[in-house]
Amino acid sequence: MAEILIRGADTVLTMETPEARLSQVDIRLRDGAIVELGQGLDADGAEVVDARGCVVTPGLVNTHHHLYQTLTRAVPGAQDALLFGWLRTLYPIWARFGPDEMHVSALTGLAELALSGCTMTSDHLYLYPNGARLDDTVAAADAVGLRFHPTRGAMSIGESAGGLPPDALVEDEDAILEDCIRVVDAFHDPDPAAMVRVGIAPCSPFSVSRELMRDAALLARDKGVMLHTHLAENDEDVAYSLAQFGCRPGQYAEDLGWTGPDVWHAHCVKLDGAEIDLFARTRTGVAHCPCSNCRLGSGIAPVRAMRDAGVPVGLGVDGSASNDSGNLAAEARMSLLLQRVSRGADAMSPAEALWIATRGGAEVLGRGDVLGRVAPGFRADLAIWDTRGVETAGSWDPAALLLAGPSRVRDLYVEGRAVVRDGEFLPFELPLVLEQQRTLARRLASTL
Ligand SMILES: [Zn+2]
Repeated sequence: MAEILIRGADTVLTMETPEARLSQVDIRLRDGAIVELGQGLDADGAEVVDARGCVVTPGLVNTHHHLYQTLTRAVPGAQDALLFGWLRTLYPIWARFGPDEMHVSALTGLAELALSGCTMTSDHLYLYPNGARLDDTVAAADAVGLRFHPTRGAMSIGESAGGLPPDALVEDEDAILEDCIRVVDAFHDPDPAAMVRVGIAPCSPFSVSRELMRDAALLARDKGVMLHTHLAENDEDVAYSLAQFGCRPGQYAEDLGWTGPDVWHAHCVKLDGAEIDLFARTRTGVAHCPCSNCRLGSGIAPVRAMRDAGVPVGLGVDGSASNDSGNLAAEARMSLLLQRVSRGADAMSPAEALWIATRGGAEVLGRGDVLGRVAPGFRADLAIWDTRGVETAGSWDPAALLLAGPSRVRDLYVEGRAVVRDGEFLPFELPLVLEQQRTLARRLASTL
């Protein structure tokens, strides 16, 4: 692979610490890795990328998403509902999905993430109607070129058994575990530079059995892969846990093996002090999804308290049925604003919010050894932000991107390969995919 020299960036936010900044430095990329940082580096035959007027950051990391939901944005009937009502409206629509819907919505969602500076994303796919498979989204990530952590989700307790989803959308638990093994064997790569790592991810305590939660944890540890689910998302979720299991969500997770550095939970809006201590003690990660929490009226996650206690926190856009955007840079700004609503203007700095969105996410996904920083030896996942545009004009601190900065990247590199250049999405003709997306959405709406 040709060498690339990113030359003359005004500022490089290395994320060695949230505040760490280098000025006027060049960055050399070779064989998918960052090999050198310094001033006035020799091009030496490398392709030179002029980064004057730009800020360079590590690529943003998205720790929670449901890419398939990109086809069900702003669905009437689900626009103003709380979590459980929202789910009941959308389940029958999702039941009509198949492989094409999964693939095209993932292409769209991944492109949107890339344009917003994201180089690595997780995905939580927990329903598999009409022949859909995790493979459909893995193929999409390969086409876009983002680093991908798909998780094999599942639902097994349908309405007739006291769960929330319709019976048509739930799977047999033995078949779920079998398919988990299949996708881990097919796609998971333990290599430090891996482009794909698979996780195991029963959807939520209110849609699978206690036994499946326990068996999934045993299987994940046997296979050496990570565990992911939704936890303590809102008051209804906690009430369900108390009524069905006789304990709070944190206790339920601990009892079934769902704590540890190989586990991360989405939302955790309602964790109490004891649960925050548990997560900190066990290094259990959290995917903080501020826009989705606002959209569904779930509340404000206690991120300040989590961070102070030492809980690993990353950022997630969550699915586009509950955001309804998939812009990770905008999500980072929202995380900053929401902590300030909750705790005052000094609750979180722009630098800390960007740290959570980059290095924080890489650590939550178990990739902090070679991702989430701009430093020699780290993988070449970088976002270049042009700070000469209208959004930053007049800023006294252009590197404070989350206060006054572009919400789209100028350039994006993943494993040293350009995914976005000069604002243009390179992997495929995006307008053609968006047209496919519109066609599929119209077809879904017409069958209701
Ligand atoms: Zn979610």
